[in-house]
Amino acid sequence: MTCNYLKLVVHQALFQIENGVCTHCKLDCHELVKCIRPLSKSRRKEYIEKVAPKLAQKKKLLDKLVHEPTEGNAWHADHIIPVYKGGGECSLENMRTLCVACHSEVTMAQQDERRLERMQAKKQLKIAMKELENIKPFNSTADKGGDKQVAEEDPLFVKVPGSVYSRNEQ
Ligand SMILES: [Zn+2]
Repeated sequence: MTCNYLKLVVHQALFQIENGVCTHCKLDCHELVKCIRPLSKSRRKEYIEKVAPKLAQKKKLLDKLVHEPTEGNAWHADHIIPVYKGGGECSLENMRTLCVACHSEVTMAQQDERRLERMQAKKQLKIAMKELENIKPFNSTADKGGDKQVAEEDPLFVKVPGSVYSRNEQ
């Protein structure tokens, strides 16, 4: 599944197209790296604070770039459609240039989204389990209930929380 070599090729190909300019905040990361490389570390910091205040706010990313002003510490190749959502891991059409600051924001937003999805899935599972617990064994109600009651207790109908069959219970 890993394709580090391909990733490198994609990274370089992306640079040919977008020249290291962030597609989100338009920061020219290539130019930034070129400008700060000859400077002292304190001057680098000052320069980044002036040119890329958003990046300067993220202390970890700022420190990394100040100590090691490389392209890789200034911008990343980001998957437009996340890999976990079916985006191609190494296809160029699915890649865009993002400065490290924008990339960290996008990644955090995606992590929040995935966390939320997991929480919702767990909640739904809990409801489903509860409903399964409430289902009485077959035949125990068959003699008292009419057709309607049997239909409501059919496991096929209550298995899917949120569906039209179980909306009364929410
Ligand atoms: Zn950016």
